[in-house]
Order: sequence, then structure tokens, then C-alpha cells
Amino acid sequence: MTDLSDLSARFARLAAPTPRTLVKWRSDDDTREGTARHVAYVSSQFVRQRLDEFFSGEWGLAQESVPGTWADKHGVLQCVMQATITIHGLARSSLGMGADPKTADSDSFKRAGVRWGIASDLYSFPPVYVRVSGGKPIENPWDAYDRAMLRKGVQEASPEIDKPAAPAAPKPALKKLGLIAPELCPTCGKKMWNNVWVRKPGQPDFVCTDKACKGVVRLTDADRAVLMAASPTEARAAVDAGLEPALVDSQDDLPF
Ligand SMILES: [Zn+2]
Repeated sequence: MTDLSDLSARFARLAAPTPRTLVKWRSDDDTREGTARHVAYVSSQFVRQRLDEFFSGEWGLAQESVPGTWADKHGVLQCVMQATITIHGLARSSLGMGADPKTADSDSFKRAGVRWGIASDLYSFPPVYVRVSGGKPIENPWDAYDRAMLRKGVQEASPEIDKPAAPAAPKPALKKLGLIAPELCPTCGKKMWNNVWVRKPGQPDFVCTDKACKGVVRLTDADRAVLMAASPTEARAAVDAGLEPALVDSQDDLPF
């Protein structure tokens, strides 16, 4: 007999944050002033491993090519595939594309994984511009990522970093991005920043918007995973607001 509460917890854990060491970066076409925009992605192997971690022998994958003639934004003909990941009878599907069947295969699998929450945190990443010289990165993309987060002003308040004062009222743009937490500060009752999508290990999940207050809320790993699995709208809102989907649609390096 399947323990449903255990099952629900395991579903939620698929959406646990992607470890930084397993996030890959590649540059896209957008370059400006000695920097190149980078997007984060994971290998399809990561998706496979996370499914195996929580549902070893309990998940299935079905893929089929989607007939028709498709082209990407540059007019290059694309293979399109649909992948369906089924876990305990629940199916979630997504389309993927690529210049060749192997890439479309991998892309559709990863995107179906996102429907299960796997690597969905990458969708909330800000635009990351990495310093380049002669077309080569000259810094770790994570340094550029941290800079971008500082610019967004949602980094945890840190005494050694000189940041502008927190706004008296939440900015509409940030609210739209889901960066204002539904919870109110347990110390002062004001609104809190939602740090769930951007926090680093050890950082609190919610931070008081009143810089002087220092009120924070920390979730358990399980609660955070549940919240993230239940809040795909945040990731969606980030994409709708113009942030690139972080999972890229080509050039995956499949090790097989
Ligand atoms: Zn507070």
C-alpha cells in the first residue's frame, strides 16, 4: 500500500533547489559592453538522477516526435518532441525542440522535468551578464549572478554590502515577480521579501523589507520544497516579466 503522505513529500522534493555545482551555464547571443548574457541549465542526466533519487523504479518516460514543420526564431528547421514523465500514474508532459532528434529528445525530457518542479528554480534567475574578453568569460558566472541579485535588491540584507534602503512600500514590479512574501514579518508585522527562489544555502527564506528590523523566517527543507512545488506561478511570472527561461533549448551535452 502506497503511503500517500510520503508520496506527497517526495513529489515536493523534486522541486528542491538545484545544487549550484550541477547548474551549467552557456552564453547566448546577447552581448553588451564587455559582457555576455549567460543562461543557466541542467543536463538531462540531472533530471534523470533527481527522479531516481526520489522515485527509483517508480517513474516512466514516453517520448514521441510531433509531426509538422517547425522552425526556431532564426528560421532553422527544428525537430519537436513531446515527453511525458509518469510517476505513480500521474503524467506531466512538455514539448521540446532542437536542430536534431537527440537535442529535441533531451530538451523535451528536461522540460517535462520542469513540469514536475525539477530545476524549476532556474526559471527565477535574473538576467546574468558575465564579463568576457575576446569572447571568453573572465569570471565565474555565479559571480555575475550574485551581482544581478544585488541589483534586484532582493539579496538578504548584509552589513558589508552597501545597499539602498528598502522601499517603504513594495514596488509593483517586484510584487509582480512574486518577490513579496505572503507572510508578514513575525517581529514587526511589515511585508517581507520572498527569498525562497533566490536564497543561497543557509540564508533565510523571508526577510523583512524594513532593513532596520532584521526579522527573518526560515523554513524547513520539506516546507520550502512544498512551497516551491505549489508556486510555479512565481517562476511563470518571472518568465512573463521578461526573464529568459533558464533552461535552454539546445546544445545539451548528453553523456550518452
Ligand atoms: Zn520586520
